[in-house]
Amino acid sequence: MTVQENYMRVKQNIEEACKRSGRSIEDVTVVAVTKTVGIEKTREVLASGIEHLGENRNEGFLPKYEVIGADAVWHFIGSLQTRKVKDIINQIHYLHSLDRISLAQEIQKRAEHCISCFVQVKTSNEETKQGLEPNELLPFIQELASFDHIHVVGLMTMAPHTSDEEEIRTCFQMLKKLQQDVQALDMPHAPCRELSMGMSNDYAIAVEEGATYIRLGTILVG
Ligand SMILES: *Cc1c(COP(=O)(O)O)cnc(C)c1O
Repeated sequence: MTVQENYMRVKQNIEEACKRSGRSIEDVTVVAVTKTVGIEKTREVLASGIEHLGENRNEGFLPKYEVIGADAVWHFIGSLQTRKVKDIINQIHYLHSLDRISLAQEIQKRAEHCISCFVQVKTSNEETKQGLEPNELLPFIQELASFDHIHVVGLMTMAPHTSDEEEIRTCFQMLKKLQQDVQALDMPHAPCRELSMGMSNDYAIAVEEGATYIRLGTILVG
């Protein structure tokens, strides 16, 4: 299957999920996660009409950025080590994995413009999942008010790997509720309108639950 064919199928599924939930397809942005593929396949992604690309490691991102540069909107979706911030922060548009103050401090120091960030939240009990505990979220975002290089555009989560749809849905509903709580505070540095949730195996559920950015790897390029 070509990326183009995969994308057509995915778009159809997004459209159906939007219909089921009374949403508009324009409100859902597909971020193609190209972390497992090289430059050729990444070009194929862009040619299929997707302009948002996601990478999770500096080593994967930088070589692609060098050749593609401004032809894509770049999302950094992986956990980011503090010492690696300086190498990528001025090349990306969105960071999906803000999860600690020490990372915010380093971004504040290194960024030459304001970075659009998603704060990552842990919505399941899986030991391995990164992110803030839900009860840590509000104080964390309030603390970010003093960082003028950080703009909190939304929240991000990863649901557990399970075939239990209800368990996945519960995570996405929790993220949506938290997003609404933050948005209601109407903080200039944290409009928090966006929800980055949904991957290849659960994006239809995520769209039904309000995702505005879905991060798709395997199903597009796998
Ligand atoms: C790899 C990755 C994805 C994409 O996963 P697929 O299951 O291949 O769609 C999405 N989000 C994050 C944070 C990832 O690391």
